[in-house]
Parts: sequence; structure tokens; C-alpha cells
Amino acid sequence: MSRLLIGLVASAALLSQHGNQAVYATAGDPAGPVRSTDRQIIEVLQYGLEQSPSFRDVVATLEFLGRPVSVERGDCNHRGIRACLQVRAGGNLVVRLDPEQPIDTVVAQLAHALYHAVEIAKETTVTDDVSFRQFYDRTAEHACATPVDQCWETQAAVTFEALVARQLARRSSDALAPR
Ligand SMILES: [Zn+2]
Repeated sequence: MSRLLIGLVASAALLSQHGNQAVYATAGDPAGPVRSTDRQIIEVLQYGLEQSPSFRDVVATLEFLGRPVSVERGDCNHRGIRACLQVRAGGNLVVRLDPEQPIDTVVAQLAHALYHAVEIAKETTVTDDVSFRQFYDRTAEHACATPVDQCWETQAAVTFEALVARQLARRSSDALAPR
């Protein structure tokens, strides 16, 4: 799993050399690699792109892979899970999350879900909900408490969320430091 994270960060670092300007412009862009029609979620996206280099990299990687992700306000139907990735009919990737939380928390949760979107975007065999479930059944840990409630987790996505959270915390403490 850590190999996957390193691979992603390395490829994203290459992308960000020419991709930063384009990625900055995508927050409110309905054709961008990560898109939303919810004003509050667009603000979350903009904040993540401005404050976290790794958040920029995961968005640039999705742009490179050509698999756009829509972000919606809503529940995940799993107790205790505040953001999740779903595959809709036609293979469209959708993140559902709750933006009514502190912005650093929402950005880190979104980064986690976008990392899962990269895991899926790299798998051309995942085209619908059934193949999505089969893929994570093979490659991830079951993360829900009950067998009827199906959800999965990967260590790489958890690690990526922590990385983005650290970058945001560092930015906040820089802003508070005396000058
Ligand atoms: Zn996860």
C-alpha cells in the first residue's frame, strides 16, 4: 500500500510542474477534473488547491487520468463515515460528503475520497457498481461493522488524508506565527 502512495506522489509531482496553473482554475469549472455545483463545496475545493500541495497533486492526477469526479453534499449511509466514493451508472465517479464541518476537516476527507478515485481511475476494469465492489473486495480491507453494510478502506488513502491534514495544520500555524 505504501508503494502505491509513493507511486502516486511521484507521478503527481511530475504533473504539478506544468499542471499547477490549470489545477488552480478548476475549482469552479463545471468541466474540471473535480467538479461541484454546490457553492460551499467549490469553496472547499478552492481552499484545498490553495493550501495543500498534495491536494493539488491528487486533482492533477485525476486530470491526467481523464476520470472526472463530481462532489455532492450528502450522506454515505455508513455510520461514522463522513465522505465516500461511489460509482454511478456509466462509471461516473461521485464523492459524497458533509461540508458542514471545519474546512480543514472537509478538505482532508475530500482528499481521502479523491485518493480512492485515483485507485479506481487507474483500473480500467471498474466501470460500474458491481466491478467497483469486486475490485475493493480483492484489494482492500472491509471497514464496516456489519457484513450487510459494505464498505472498504485502504491504508494508502488513510495515509494520504493524514498527509493533507498535516499540510493544512502547518499552514494554519504559519498564519498564526508572529512576523
Ligand atoms: Zn477510505
